[in-house]
Amino acid sequence: MQVLFNDLAAQYQAIRAEADEAIQKVLQEGWFVGGAHVQNFEKSFAERCGALHAIGLGNATDGLFLALKVLGVKPGDEVITPAWSWISSAEVITLCGAQVVFADVEPDTFLISTKSIEQKITAKTKAVIVVHLYGKMADLKPIKALCDQHQLKLIEDCSQAHFAESAAGKVGTVGDCGVFSFYPTKNLGAFGDAGCLITNNETLALKVRRLANHGGLTKDEHLFEGVNSRLDSLQAAILQVKLNFVSSWTAIRKTLAEVYLDHLKSVPEIILPRIDEPAAHVFHLFVIRVQKREELQAYLGERGIQTLIHYPKAIPFEPAYTYLSHSENDFPVAAQLQHDVLSLPLHPFLSQKQIEYVCEAINSFYGGN
Ligand SMILES: *Cc1c(COP(=O)(O)O)cnc(C)c1O
Repeated sequence: MQVLFNDLAAQYQAIRAEADEAIQKVLQEGWFVGGAHVQNFEKSFAERCGALHAIGLGNATDGLFLALKVLGVKPGDEVITPAWSWISSAEVITLCGAQVVFADVEPDTFLISTKSIEQKITAKTKAVIVVHLYGKMADLKPIKALCDQHQLKLIEDCSQAHFAESAAGKVGTVGDCGVFSFYPTKNLGAFGDAGCLITNNETLALKVRRLANHGGLTKDEHLFEGVNSRLDSLQAAILQVKLNFVSSWTAIRKTLAEVYLDHLKSVPEIILPRIDEPAAHVFHLFVIRVQKREELQAYLGERGIQTLIHYPKAIPFEPAYTYLSHSENDFPVAAQLQHDVLSLPLHPFLSQKQIEYVCEAINSFYGGN
């Protein structure tokens, strides 16, 4: 049996009629950047997120950069960000001329640890970027309280957690702003690069919109220097179509995740992800911690099961950050995760049978039944 890690071709087939129609419409109208499709999507997305404003952008990395800029992060400032994440949430800090300060994560949720944030706060700390990694929302109540207490800005990287919600609130609306990626493999993905920033703060929204468009809202308006990071009409039209499917796709992800949790719970060599509030996890990825990872990965590969590693290296140990001279003792959890995380196939075009097949293979690898 083949179990693909992701299947974007199957996803396209599922929405083909609507997607083709939307694309044709944009092509026939001949308006490719900005315009009605972008505005409509921004409005729909903001509503779905429970936010007042959504600004379509070129990608989420730009969104994080623009958020820091608009929140006033500058040279001399420090920004705290998880040691365990995709590199975007760290590199944008340097782009602003500020200092990257890594915090360690929790061993069973993979998310930034509140205690570690607290230990890293100095007089220079200006902001915290939390990442809702793998689809699970970080513990925002204590983190928000900590940020308020120290007057720090809070940015949520929601790139892997579209429409998650917790007791603290809906994803992206608890901090000063939330940033989403619509990279094709994300829970809501475009047919190329795309991203978005949401916020309830009108001033912040206006500044981001200007900064992303050369410092102005209209052509030839340049109130300050900006960048070019816009959502294009084709991607907006496609995202609008997919927006109607995300809830049902997320529901399938959750059902399949339950199958994994149930079938793998008695394997002693595996640490399963901690879930907590069900609505706060949208299962972008299903990541387990395992013994003999490389052997297991090869064993599954021989049986047609694709797995990936998110991530092979913790960010502080990437060559890009050797200048910080960190050692594994600085981030013991992130350092350990490098050796034992494994992402199992999980997407809306898998069946329960396929997930059971993966679980059987894992069980037999470890000598169970
Ligand atoms: C995908 C991703 C990003 C980057 O998104 P782009 O749209 O590719 O710039 C940032 N943070 C996290 C956690 C991601 O998963």
